[in-house]
Amino acid sequence: MDNKDKKEPGIIKKSFSLGKALFRYAKEGFPNVSQEVYEQRMMLCNSCELLDKQSASCKSCGCVVEYKGRMETESCPEKKW
Ligand code: SF4
Repeated sequence: MDNKDKKEPGIIKKSFSLGKALFRYAKEGFPNVSQEVYEQRMMLCNSCELLDKQSASCKSCGCVVEYKGRMETESCPEKKW
């Protein structure tokens, strides 16, 4: 199956991913990346075939990239950033 045809994860997987991301983020004291790093991340997401442009979420992890991209404790599940 081509990556662009990948379906968005279901609500349970999305909730689990979000919970893990928030736990990591809170545990480290809510660290954010610089504006420059954030913009680089968003540029990569916006050109990625796994971005669901309608929901602005990643089809690999289910996260809303606008929020995930700000968190220093997060990384791209496909190792693009
Ligand atoms: S987090 Fe990674 S896989 Fe997901 S949309 Fe962004 S670049 Fe693509």
